[in-house]
Amino acid sequence: MSQSVRVRFAPSPTGHLHVGGARTALFNWLYARHHGGMFILRIEDTDRSRSTDENIGDIVAALRWLGLDWDEGPPSPGYRQTERFDLYREHARRLVAAGRAYYCACTPEQLEAERAEAQAKNETFRYSGRCRALGLTAGALRLRIPEEGTTVVDDLIHGPVTFDHRQLDDWILLRSDGTPTYNFCVVVDDVTMRISHVIRGNDHLSNTPKQVLCYEALGYPVPAFAHVSMILGPDRARLSKRHGATSVQAYREQGILPEAMVNYLARLGWSSGDQEIFSRAELVERFDIKDVSSSGAIFDQTKLEWLNHEYIKTVDGRRLATLVTPFLTPAGLTPPAEATRFVGMLDTLRERGKTLRELVEVGRFYFERPSEYDARSASKLFTPAGVERLGALIERLAAVEPFTPASLEALYRELAEAMGLKLVDLAQLTRLAVTGRTASPPLFDVLGLLGREETLARLRAARDAAAKAAR
Ligand code: GLU
Repeated sequence: MSQSVRVRFAPSPTGHLHVGGARTALFNWLYARHHGGMFILRIEDTDRSRSTDENIGDIVAALRWLGLDWDEGPPSPGYRQTERFDLYREHARRLVAAGRAYYCACTPEQLEAERAEAQAKNETFRYSGRCRALGLTAGALRLRIPEEGTTVVDDLIHGPVTFDHRQLDDWILLRSDGTPTYNFCVVVDDVTMRISHVIRGNDHLSNTPKQVLCYEALGYPVPAFAHVSMILGPDRARLSKRHGATSVQAYREQGILPEAMVNYLARLGWSSGDQEIFSRAELVERFDIKDVSSSGAIFDQTKLEWLNHEYIKTVDGRRLATLVTPFLTPAGLTPPAEATRFVGMLDTLRERGKTLRELVEVGRFYFERPSEYDARSASKLFTPAGVERLGALIERLAAVEPFTPASLEALYRELAEAMGLKLVDLAQLTRLAVTGRTASPPLFDVLGLLGREETLARLRAARDAAAKAAR
């Protein structure tokens, strides 16, 4: 089987990549990689009014960000449906020649009248088949559907699903202007791209019997199908903009790591024991489409952020620096020139932010001097005694060698004792002076990372502010 697995992700570029689409792409990618098969990207852009190059660019960027690389697809030519019209026409001609499709000259008015009649009788509208035997040579091209019997879609996730032919009608392959319909393009593409497994959202399950009958009419083997359940919001309705962020891009901008997003999406509907955290290699090794659940999965932002935090806590420091950097400029901050210092800062912040954006906010003090001091703490600490203590700290910190967390800690202990204070008294005062607040990562690490000059500048500014307040 491993030789023949060819799967595809076939987005319609009518918007950003939705998390549901991203999960479908991921499941296809995992299936291909697990079986050593091929993953193909195909752009379904026949809806010209809603498909844009910008959306294609966004989708491609989101797939790249997630690390879902494709073996065939854009920018190579031939992977956009609008480039494949000759192929659709050629297959339409074959169906006509074989007597499996026929032209229909019914006018929109006639069809509308039939539809209204069915509605009045509370029946689903089915084309009457009026033009079936007329031997017309122009009009819309319809597929001849067997009048009796059933088509069974043996879905890898849902098991066999039976469709009664009496519920299907002779659907249109080519419109009267010669343009192919969506379902026809999908069939022709999947056969010509030799797709072995069609893994897609279960909103397409109702299209599948129509497509299966078209494969059979063309004389092609039918691929295996797996219809993945929809992603739901907390209210169990299908996840939509109404629930908040839905595009991969939006999560990227929130500061979700691509590896956390991949891990989270993989676990939405798929599981392997109780394990929550999977490396990409583990996912590839363990993923099987048969283990995907047939019921809808609820998108849980809290869990995504929990998972993201787990990745933030453990990701390599240099990589974390690379990931955080794009968030600095929009926050009005400049990355430090020294890479090791930046990595050191982030090491003190990992525990404190669940997203890259939060890391930047909790670490803002590294980049900016406090513009104000927390008022409650200032009223307690910026007293005449506080001014004196800040003066002593400035004097000693100007001279301490080396300016490292270990020697700073020793100095603080010694000074506290000499002044008859507890370490925490000096520490809280320093925290407030240096960060504007009394909660921060470990103080001596912070001072070491800020460096002597910056620490002294901040202590002096605080002493001035305290002197003013104490007057
Ligand atoms: N273009 C369809 C969509 O974006 C996918 C069709 C398919 O996978 O067969 O929903």
